[in-house]
Order: sequence, then structure tokens, then C-alpha cells
Amino acid sequence: MRLLEVDDLEKYYRTRGGLFSSGREKVHAVDGISFTMDREETLGLVGESGCGKSTLARLVARLEEPDGGRVIFAGKDITELSEKELQELRCEMQVIFQDTYSSLNPRLTVSSIIGEPLANFHVGTRKEQKERVQELLETVGLNPEHATRYPHEFSGGQRQRIGIARALALRPKLVICDEPVSNLDVSIQAQILNLLKKLKQEFGLSYLFISHDLAVISYISDRVAVMYLGKIVEVLKSRDLATEACHPYTLALLAAVPVSDPRLREGKELIVKGEPPDPVNPPAGCRFHPRCPWAEEKCRREEPVLKSVKAGHQVACHFEGITMRGCGSG
Ligand code: SF4
Ligand code: MG
Repeated sequence: MRLLEVDDLEKYYRTRGGLFSSGREKVHAVDGISFTMDREETLGLVGESGCGKSTLARLVARLEEPDGGRVIFAGKDITELSEKELQELRCEMQVIFQDTYSSLNPRLTVSSIIGEPLANFHVGTRKEQKERVQELLETVGLNPEHATRYPHEFSGGQRQRIGIARALALRPKLVICDEPVSNLDVSIQAQILNLLKKLKQEFGLSYLFISHDLAVISYISDRVAVMYLGKIVEVLKSRDLATEACHPYTLALLAAVPVSDPRLREGKELIVKGEPPDPVNPPAGCRFHPRCPWAEEKCRREEPVLKSVKAGHQVACHFEGITMRGCGSG
């Protein structure tokens, strides 16, 4: 069943006094993005930093107002909610952040941090709230005795567990995870990812999971959406990533992680060269063309649209990605 529908979502930033140095007066952080999510699905959103992933997350959570498009969550257009309805939405949709230093108040005890949403929404009596906090601590693998301590007394992984417990307090349907493991050591990353997987099963959660790391994304997600400079360039099932991905940018991301793809070993080397272009002044045509080894004249002129190449697989490339051009066969 459908949980979320994002339709042509747009967010741009203006300069204070007129034009950017490029001559443009606005820069698109999110440029006409559409996707859907089912209940109990994890959609991974991957791309380099600055591609607009976090802005997209903030728009979906309505922590920022979009400049265009719609976000339909559980059948309601959340871009048109009243203040009161927005409060209700906060129960159903929660966010886990990357930086637990700024997202957990250092002056509050763990108990107050996790119990805050319960207190704000007047869920149960004080005693019931306390019991719920104890239960949540156990759910995320912390000791109930930790309740009286402060965030600085914990490691990065433990702090992220506290953030997860807080996000779950109100029993949300959707949890938006914005780079939740990016600040953690690799061994700790795996523990947190496994915890998130377990919680999804246990509580029937859906995650919109954001990361710059394709290995993390492919581990946690059912489907993957690849973002490049404010646009989605490919969507496919995670299990098909290694064999079916065909957008040159996705292949470049794959080449950077230890997933072997024979297409990458022959012909043109696919390494994403240089820094991503300036989002203030994105290249004309296909935004990836300055870094794409397969770019042709048409790519410099015309912008490709995201279209289906088969069921559950969409690509934005004039040549429907490199596999379809026969690059994989010979
Ligand atoms: Fe490369 Fe052209 Fe496809 Fe863009 S449209 S990804 S430049 S081949
Ligand atoms: Mg970010």
C-alpha cells in the first residue's frame, strides 16, 4: 500500500540582493523530484554531498516549505496542512539526524530526551511515560539504567541509539534517516543498520534513508533512488543494483564501492572525476555530461527525463544508460 507520494517537488534558494555570480537569481536545491514509497518499504536516497538529499528530506518532513509540488503522506497533502494537522503529522513521521551532538540537547537527561515527544503530545501519565522510556531504551539496545545520564556520557553509536529511541517514542509510520551512520566507525555503522532493520520488522516501519555511501544504502534499502544535482537520475531495486544499474552516475558510484561489476573493468574507466559542478550554475543539458565518459552532443543540449526502462526501474539518460547501448556485452 502507498504511504508516500512526492510529486514534482521543488525548492530553490534566492540570493539576498539579486543575482548569483552566474547571472541566475535562484538556485534549485531540489528540482522537480517525484517518487513514491510503499508501507514498510525502505527507500534509499544516495548522492554526493550538496546534491539536495537533505533538503529533500526536510521538505518531505515539512521542516522546510517547498516552492512547488506536493507531498502526499497517508493520503493527505502535507504541504497544505494547518498548524494542528501538522502536529498530528509529527506523530506519524519522525526524523533521525546525522549529528547527535546538535540533535540531542546536552543539558537534558536521556530520559527527558526520549520522553520529550511523549510529554509534548501528552501521551499517558508521567508514570506511563517513564515506563515507555525504559521500554524504548531496551528496544534500542541500551540499559534502562542509562535513563538518568547525559548524552556526553555516551559513544557516538549509543547516542544514535538514543536518537532512534526518541524517534520511535510516538510510534511513527515513516522515519526519515538523514545520514544516521555517516559519523560512525564502520563496525558501529553495521550495528546501527542492523538495529534499524530489526526495528522495521518489529514495528512495521518505513524508512526514507539518506546517505552518500552506496554500500550503506544497498544494505539497508529495498529500492534505491540516485540523486545528482537536485534531480533523481535512476531508481531501481537494491538487489538489482550490481547487475541492472545503467545510469553512468550510478555505475560510477558502484565503481567506488567494493561491488564487482564486469562492465566497469573494460572499456571506459568509470570514476567520477572532480568535484560535482556548482549547483548555482548547473551544466546545460544532462547535468552529468561534464563527468560522463559517454556524453555526446545531444547530452550537452537536451536534458534527459526520468523514464521507465522496465518494471520498477527508471533512468534519466538519453541512451537509457550504458547497458542498453551495448557497452555491457563486449
Ligand atoms: Fe551521460 Fe548523456 Fe546519459 Fe547524461 S544523457 S548520463 S551525459 S550519456
Ligand atoms: Mg546532507
